[in-house]
Amino acid sequence: MEFEAVIGLEVHAQLKTRTKIFCGCSTAFGAPPNTHTCPVCLGMPGVLPVLNKKVVAYAMRMALATGCTIAPESRFARKNYFYPDLPKGYQISQYELPLAAGGHVDIALDGRTRRIGITRIHLEEDAGKLTHDPDRPFSRVDLNRAGVPLIEIVSEPDLRTPAEAGAYLRQLRAILRYLDICDGNMEEGSFRCDANVSIRPAGAAALGTRTELKNLNSFKHVEKAIAYEIARQKEHVAEGGLVVQETRLWDPDKNLTTAMRGKEEAHDYRYFPDPDLLPLTIDAGWIAEVRASLPELPAARKARFEAQFGLPAYDADLLTAARELADYFEACLAVFPQPKPVSNWVMGTLLGRLNAEGKSIADSPVSPAHLAELLRLVDDGVISGKIAKSVFDQMAETGRGPAAIVEEKGLTQVSDAGALEAAVAAVLAGNPAEVAAYRGGKAQLLGFFVGQVMKATRGKAHPGMVNDLLRQKLGQPGA
Ligand code: ADP
Ligand code: MG
Ligand code: ZN
Repeated sequence: MEFEAVIGLEVHAQLKTRTKIFCGCSTAFGAPPNTHTCPVCLGMPGVLPVLNKKVVAYAMRMALATGCTIAPESRFARKNYFYPDLPKGYQISQYELPLAAGGHVDIALDGRTRRIGITRIHLEEDAGKLTHDPDRPFSRVDLNRAGVPLIEIVSEPDLRTPAEAGAYLRQLRAILRYLDICDGNMEEGSFRCDANVSIRPAGAAALGTRTELKNLNSFKHVEKAIAYEIARQKEHVAEGGLVVQETRLWDPDKNLTTAMRGKEEAHDYRYFPDPDLLPLTIDAGWIAEVRASLPELPAARKARFEAQFGLPAYDADLLTAARELADYFEACLAVFPQPKPVSNWVMGTLLGRLNAEGKSIADSPVSPAHLAELLRLVDDGVISGKIAKSVFDQMAETGRGPAAIVEEKGLTQVSDAGALEAAVAAVLAGNPAEVAAYRGGKAQLLGFFVGQVMKATRGKAHPGMVNDLLRQKLGQPGA
C-alpha cells in the first residue's frame, strides 16, 4: 500500500520586546544567570503579573500578516506542570480563547504555490533554562528566560514533505523578520519548532496517529528529522506495527529519533483561566492601527519584483528573502535602474563575497550607491565587465567608491579606435601561424586573438570593439 506523510508544525517565536511579558525584567540574551529576574518571573507568592502591551501589538502584527482573525476577547490560561525550569508550577499561556485563529501562509516550491493553514496564534511566556553537567550529580537553572514573550504559531496538518516543512518555516521566519518582531535565530532558540508527523494510506481523509518531534535546532535538522520519522513509521507499519502517539527526540549526531515519553494530552495539564489576569480585549480601532502599520510582506514584494522589474521568479525569491537585501537591491535601482544586471551582481558577486566571509547584507562593505555607480561605469563603457570585478574587490576591501579606484589605478577601458587598432595589429603580427590557420578555416581561433589583445591591454580593451576590429582585419575564416 502507498502511504503519504502528514505534517503539522508548532513554532515558538520569541518576540523582540525590551522587557518580559508580565514584568519589567530585561529580555537581553547572554546576561549572567538569574540576573534578569524579579519576584514576578521567579514566581514568588503574592505577586501579580501585568501584561506588556507591546507584546500584544507584536503578536497582532504576525496575526494580521498571516490573515488570521484576531479575537475581540482572548484569555490567559494556566498550563500546569512540574519542572524545575518553571518556578510557578504553571506556564501562562492561552488555551480555549487564543489571540488569533484561521490564517494561512503561502509557500512556493518547485514553481508551485501551496497554501498552508494556520490554526491559531497565541501568546505565552517562556520557561527558564536548565543546564546538565554530566560529571556532577546536579543541574543548574537559569531563570533569565522565564517570562520572555513568545507567540506559538500552530499550523494545520497541511504539509506533506520535509521540503514543504522547510519552505513553510523559512516563510514564517521571513515574515517575522520583515515585521521586525523576532530575530528568527534557530540556533540561539529565538525561533523553535516541534514537528508532528503521521502517515496514512495515500488519498485517505482520516489522519493517522502522530508522533511529536523535539530538539530540532536548525532548518536542516527539521527536514532530516521529519524524513527519518516518515521512513521509520512506514517501515514499522509495513512490519505490521502500529504507530504510538508519543514525543520523540531528534538525535543530531546519530541522525535518528528516539522515544522520549508518551504524548501528554491537554487534560494532563489541568488548563484553567488565570484568575490573576483580565481577559485581553482588542478593539477594531487597535486592529486597524496595527494593520495600517504593516510593511510590504515577502510574498507581495516578490510578486512586485517580478511584475515591476521583470525579474525571473528565482531572482525575486532570493532578493526578497530578507527585507534588508530587498532594500539594498531597490536602493541600487534608484541610482542605476537596470534590474537584471543589478540582480546578477547582487546575487552573484556581492552575496558570494558576503557568504564567503560569513557576513549579512547589513554589514556589506559596499554601499548600494557605490555598487550602482560601478555598474554605471560598465554601462557607459568606461571600464570592462572584467575590470569591474577587480574594482569591486577593491571597493569591498577599502570601502572606497569605484570612480576613485578606477581613476587612481588607471583602469579606464580603452575604447579609442586608434589605440585598439595598434594593439590588434601587434597581436596579428606576432602570431602569423594562428592568423594563417584562422584564414584557413579555424574560426574558433577568434577567441585566442581576443584573449591576446586583452592581455596586451591588461584587460582594459573594449571587448566589443576588439571583436569588430579582429573580424575586420582577419576577414572571413576559410575565405
Ligand atoms: P499539542 O500541543 O497537543 O501538540 P497542538 O494543537 O498545539 O497540540 O498542535 C498540534 C499540531 O499537530 C498541529 O500543528 C497539527 O496540525 C498537528 N497535527 C495534529 N494531528 C496530526 C496528525 N495526525 N498528523 C500530523 N500532524 C498532526
Ligand atoms: Mg504539540
Ligand atoms: Zn521579572
